[in-house]
Amino acid sequence: MDKIILLKYGEIILKGLNRPVFEDKLMKNIRSAAGGDLAKISKAQATVYVEPAQGADAEALAERLSKVFGVVSAAVATVTEKDLEKICAVAVALAGVAQPGTFKVETKRADKRFPYTSPQISAAVGEAVYEACDHLTVNVQNPDLLVKVEVRDFAAYVYLSKIAGVGGMPTGTSGRATLLLSGGIDSPVAGYMVAKRGVELDAVHFYSYPYTSERAKDKVIELASLLSGYCGTIRLSVVPFTEVQLEINQKCPGEQMTLLMRRIMMYIVNHIAAQNGSHALITGESIGQVASQTIEALAVTDDAAKLPVFRPLIGMDKEEIVQIARKIGTFETSILPYEDCCTVFTPKHPSTKPKLEKILQSEALLDVEGLVRRAIAETEVITLRAGDTNPLSLTRGSL
Ligand code: ATP
Ligand code: MG
Repeated sequence: MDKIILLKYGEIILKGLNRPVFEDKLMKNIRSAAGGDLAKISKAQATVYVEPAQGADAEALAERLSKVFGVVSAAVATVTEKDLEKICAVAVALAGVAQPGTFKVETKRADKRFPYTSPQISAAVGEAVYEACDHLTVNVQNPDLLVKVEVRDFAAYVYLSKIAGVGGMPTGTSGRATLLLSGGIDSPVAGYMVAKRGVELDAVHFYSYPYTSERAKDKVIELASLLSGYCGTIRLSVVPFTEVQLEINQKCPGEQMTLLMRRIMMYIVNHIAAQNGSHALITGESIGQVASQTIEALAVTDDAAKLPVFRPLIGMDKEEIVQIARKIGTFETSILPYEDCCTVFTPKHPSTKPKLEKILQSEALLDVEGLVRRAIAETEVITLRAGDTNPLSLTRGSL
């Protein structure tokens, strides 16, 4: 029996006159995520239909496509003629191999010319399944198994289960932002949350060789690669930060170290974001998580940023962030025990209520312009593409 994947999308439907732009982007992203496993793609009535190529694993493909931003659910359906007996036969065949328990039939009749109403179809299919399957009984309130029937223009579709999609908006419909990507748990999650709204990402990582190791850098490349699986190509700028840290360490009070570092990170990211055509910055900060994330400290950091700084985790607890990190598959990489540049020079008593004026006085002792210029000149750019299996061997260039 022919299989087809039904992908439902949600919020895009509300887009009014712009809706085709979002739909076209979604179709394009689905096509590219499916690659050679796709034979044909079409759309109708808030559903994208994907016919798997011959020999392709439909279940695995549906799983993959459920992770394309904009997709709300994915189901592998069996295609049949719009004939009530044939629909019943397919439902019986599918339900026949389901686990024992209770079931219910739900029907959607999009083609109103079909001579039976939805309740009539549900009743006929329910009866056929009940008669043929000894291991199933009816429960319309809280069934273990939902048999879904959809009667559409050209065919009818029957399926038993749906995979929940990631939701969000199609990548490429909401501009570009630059993610400050450390090796920790939070920043990949922050990048994911913004990317989910259709935003394309670039990333910047600061490292402090030889205080941080090559492996710490490789870990960040791996994280960027995992994110690219969701949002497409990411240009990762890897910026040497040791000189900045040594100079701050030498010239400024210890309790201001982290915030001065944060501000210089922002100056550097301002340049990179402008070059990449980004319209916002993203960090993984959340109120009160550490000293540099008090409201006062965040305000001091923001003062150095030219673009809006998005902090999608601002109101989240660590446990909630960890849950998302696990779900999107970045957690295991994030907890690898390599040091981050910020931890290397962390002061014992960072100030939690910094005064911008005082920080600016210290900053005036630094050759900010020279530090920023040299860091940018030494920056390496690594391009990560979705589906690349060995990110560490990818194209490297300079800004
Ligand atoms: P994370 O888990 O993302 O590392 P964190 O809780 O450890 O976050 P901080 O180390 O204070 O917090 O960093 C706050 C944010 O600053 C990070 O979420 C990230 O966006 C940015 N950041 C920190 N270190 C770096 C770095 N080495 N390179 C790029 N961005 C960084
Ligand atoms: Mg960190």
